[in-house]
Amino acid sequence: ETIGANLDRSVAAFGDREVLVDRPGGRRWTYRQFARDVDVVARGLVALGVRTGDRVGIWSPNCPEWMLVQYATARIGAILVSINPAYRTHELVYVLNQSGARTVVATPTYKSSDYVGMLAEARGQCPQLRDVLLIGEESWTGLLAAGEAGDPAEVAAMAAALRPDDPINIQYTSGTTGFPKGATLSHRNILNNGYFVAELCGYTEQDRICVPVPLYHCFGLVMGALAATSHGACVVLPAPTFDPAATLAAVAAERCTSLYGVPTMFIAELNDPGFAEHDLTSLRTGIMAGSPCPGEVMKQVIERMHMRDVSICYGMTETSPVSTQTRAEDGFEQRVSTVGRVGPHLEVKVVDPASGRQVERGTAGELCTRGYSVMLGYWQEPEKTAQVVDAEGWMHTGDLAVMDEDGFLAITGRIKDMVIRGGENIYPREIEEFLYTHPDILDAQVVGVPDPKYGEELMAWIRLRPGAPQLTAEQLRGYCAGRLAHYKIPRYVHLVEAFPMTVTGKVRKVEMREEAARLLA
Ligand code: ATP
Ligand code: MG
Repeated sequence: ETIGANLDRSVAAFGDREVLVDRPGGRRWTYRQFARDVDVVARGLVALGVRTGDRVGIWSPNCPEWMLVQYATARIGAILVSINPAYRTHELVYVLNQSGARTVVATPTYKSSDYVGMLAEARGQCPQLRDVLLIGEESWTGLLAAGEAGDPAEVAAMAAALRPDDPINIQYTSGTTGFPKGATLSHRNILNNGYFVAELCGYTEQDRICVPVPLYHCFGLVMGALAATSHGACVVLPAPTFDPAATLAAVAAERCTSLYGVPTMFIAELNDPGFAEHDLTSLRTGIMAGSPCPGEVMKQVIERMHMRDVSICYGMTETSPVSTQTRAEDGFEQRVSTVGRVGPHLEVKVVDPASGRQVERGTAGELCTRGYSVMLGYWQEPEKTAQVVDAEGWMHTGDLAVMDEDGFLAITGRIKDMVIRGGENIYPREIEEFLYTHPDILDAQVVGVPDPKYGEELMAWIRLRPGAPQLTAEQLRGYCAGRLAHYKIPRYVHLVEAFPMTVTGKVRKVEMREEAARLLA
C-alpha cells in the first residue's frame, strides 16, 4: 500500500475525527479536512510542474504545513527531502545539490533563523533550484490557489500509478558521527514502520499524540505522523521547536494520551518550574528514543508523568527508523536497561565486527537488522550504501549491542565511541551511568582522547548541578576509586555548561573528541 492509499482508508474510517492540531487554540483538521488540503497542495505542486520522482525540499520547524506537504508529495510520488531546520547556508546548499531538489517549501523566518535570506544566498550555488515557496506568503497562497483550480483527475492518476517500493523520502541522518547521510526510503519502508510502532503502542482513534520532536526527523515523520494516520489517531504539535513548558501545556489542554521525546527532552520537562501546574493524567504511553535513558528519568516519567506504558524504541534513519521496541507488558528493568525486542516482520542479529560471525547471547557485538525497514540506499551513493547494507540485506548499524536469552537487546554504545585503552575495550555508557550517581553531577559524557602510552585515555565532560562546588579530576577519581575498574576511571575532567548537540537532541561526541584533543594539545 502507498501512503496516499493508506490515508484514504483512514479518511473513510475516521473522517470526522481530528488528525492534526497546531498548538492549543491554534488551527485543527479532521481527517476529511486534512485529506482535502493535502490534495490542494498536491494539485498546486503539479501545477508548478512537480512530477513523480522529483525532489521537493521542506525546510521548516514543526508546523501543520509540514505534514500537508509530507502527504501531498506522497500522493504524487514526489520525493520529500527533509532539511534540518538548524542548517545554515552551506549545509543547505549541500543537501539541495546532493538531492537535486528543484522545489523547496520553507518557513520564511523563525527566531534567529532567516530561512528566506539563506535560500536567497544558496540560489547562486544551486543551479537546479527553481521554486521556493514561503509558507504564509504569496508564493504559498498562490500554490494553494492553483491547487484549488487544479484538476483532481491528474493527481488521482499519478497516485494510482505509484508502487509501495517507490522512493518517497530522503531523510538525512542526525549527523552525530559526522556529515549527515541521505537515506532514501520507500512507502513500504516508512508506512509499515509507522504502522507497527502504532500497533505496539496500542493506538486507536482515541489516541492523541503530542509530538515535540522534529517532523524533519523520522521520529516525528514516521513514529508521529504515519503512526497516527495509520490508526485514526491525532497529532498535536505543541510548538515549532522544542519548548518544555509549551509541551506540558499542550498535553494538558489537548488531553494527550501519548508523548514523545529523547531523554533530554523528558529531563527538561520534569525540571520545568511550572511542571506541577499541568494536569498530565491523560497520558498513558509515549516513546522515548534516540539515546539511552537514565533509570531515574524513566522512573519519573512513569510516576510523575503517568506514562505507565512508555515505550523505548531503538532504530536509525536508515531503517525507517524503528528496529526494536519495548512492549507495554515489559517491566521497568527491561525499559531502563534494554531497547526491547525486535519489531514485527524484522530480524536482528549480533555479530563480531571483525569476523562478521554471530556471537553468543550475552556477548557484545555489532547489531545488524534486516527486513522491510532497510532503506533503498543512501541517495546516489551506492558505495556508501554497500558499506552498511551487505549482499544478504543486513544493515550493519554501527551500534554495539548485547542480546539476552529472551531476545531483549541492550545498546552498549557506538563502535565509533568505544575507547580502547591499553588494549581494554571501554564502553563510555557504563562510566556515564556510574557518574550520574554523583550527587553534584547533572549530566556526564565520556570520550576517548589520544594518549602516547595507552593509545587512548578517558576524559569526562561534566555538567554540574546549579550551585554545586567545582569538581577536580582528583576529586572525581577519588569518587570512582574502588567502584570502577581502574582502567575505566577518567583521567581528565572537563567542566562545561552544555554539550555540543544535534537538533535531534543527541550529544555530538565527534565534536567533543576534537575539542578534547585540542584542550590537551
Ligand atoms: P549519523 O548517522 O549521521 O552519525 P545518527 O546515527 O545519530 O547520526 P540517527 O539515524 O538519527 O542518526 O540515529 C540513529 C542512532 O541513534 C543509532 O544508530 C543509535 O546509535 C542511536 N539510538 C537510537 N535509538 C537509541 C536508543 N533507544 N538507545 C540508544 N541509542 C539509540
Ligand atoms: Mg547513524
